[in-house]
Amino acid sequence: MACPYDIEEYGDEELVVALTEFVNMAMLGDIGSMMRAESTDTCYGLSASFLDLIDASMPLGTFLVHHPKKLLECFEKAVADVQNTVFPEFLASWENGEIPDLAWPPTKKPKFHVRITNLPVNQDSTKGSLPRSCDIGRFVCVRGTVIRTGQPKMLEWKRVYKCALCHNEFEKEADLTAQDPFPYPVRCESGMTPACTGRKFTLVQQTGDVDCHDYQEIKIQEQMHTLGVGSIPRSIHVIMMEDLVDVMKPGDDVTITGEVIQKWKNLFPEERCDVEIMIQANNIKINNQDGRGEGVTDELQNEFIEFWKKHDWDHRLNRS
Ligand SMILES: [Zn+2]
Repeated sequence: MACPYDIEEYGDEELVVALTEFVNMAMLGDIGSMMRAESTDTCYGLSASFLDLIDASMPLGTFLVHHPKKLLECFEKAVADVQNTVFPEFLASWENGEIPDLAWPPTKKPKFHVRITNLPVNQDSTKGSLPRSCDIGRFVCVRGTVIRTGQPKMLEWKRVYKCALCHNEFEKEADLTAQDPFPYPVRCESGMTPACTGRKFTLVQQTGDVDCHDYQEIKIQEQMHTLGVGSIPRSIHVIMMEDLVDVMKPGDDVTITGEVIQKWKNLFPEERCDVEIMIQANNIKINNQDGRGEGVTDELQNEFIEFWKKHDWDHRLNRS
């Protein structure tokens, strides 16, 4: 289904203002807990309920499904704004001894992500099966079994290049949709007018802290009991970052919420291009506990009950 609202009509500023209102209403508690935490290096996950969001504003909820990248960026800006606004008062309360259970001063946290929960069960956003090419760019929720987990690693997030023609420097962020996250720049992005025509760039070695993110790829497979007879289960790679890394193990039954992206392998002239559909995870839920008793029919249950009625006296059997 196409998006019924036009996101172009809403500027980024307008989206941030609308989301700030929502954050003030629904997420102040979580932001407080985040400011109370001790470490400023950790990346924090703040839950936001999709149902609350769409209840507060229909366009915002709809944009999240259809334009997740842009909306989540604005969402995180809104959280940062709210954190900046409430922090001085929070710190003052702590200094006045009004928060006695907090041993260290509260701090503003630079690293956090908004994690969306409660995506509703409908055809458009929650798929019974894994996403297909028509879902690219959408926010989806899928359930599957983890069949492989890659090695967690550090992903360099930003590189600075220097143009040999105009001698300006510009930043490039890692591109998760490319096999090589830092392809050689094709044009000078120093933002000069008229545009610089430089084609030669050198990588500027960064000193101090290099901006890196935790990164892991896992693979999930459709669950047999959700498929029709004769179907072969499909599988898909999922990108995990920051606080979602190293949380799952093979065999886990998981629900993953995230954006469907395509990953391009390197291109060669006159060769067929190789594109893979992946999910960039925004939130995960491990359902291992929910699955208990799944697949047990009433008939089977009665059989168990009958069995134990018959053999109740047999202590040896009970023990084994
Ligand atoms: Zn240049």
